[in-house]
Amino acid sequence: MHEMSIAMAVVGQVEEAARAAGATAVRSVLLQVGELAGVVPDALGFCFELACADTVLEGCELVTEAVPARARCGPCADEWLVGMPPELSCPVCGTVTAELLTGRELQIVSVRWEDDRVPAATPERTPQER
Ligand SMILES: [Zn+2]
Repeated sequence: MHEMSIAMAVVGQVEEAARAAGATAVRSVLLQVGELAGVVPDALGFCFELACADTVLEGCELVTEAVPARARCGPCADEWLVGMPPELSCPVCGTVTAELLTGRELQIVSVRWEDDRVPAATPERTPQER
């Protein structure tokens, strides 16, 4: 399942970042998903939940942000939303070799750590001498 491998990759990246940041829990992950990335958000959400089990991400929320696909025509510099199914020929001059500007994104935009559990700096108690 395509979504499962994506979910596991996302979880892996967040886990790594969590370790680096010393975070003990993750509240939410914001993921940009391009229109043409071929990902079914519901399926991804389901797989993500499974992939989070027994990790620092357990119980965290996956927020997906859809990115519309845009293409640009080389010869006339026209830009348009390619839509679904993708329309890859230029609506102005008909050139088919469009350059895809956006729409294939599949990236973590931000991660929110569980701020209630930010490891508080415990100042060492200096023994009071009398
Ligand atoms: Zn054109």
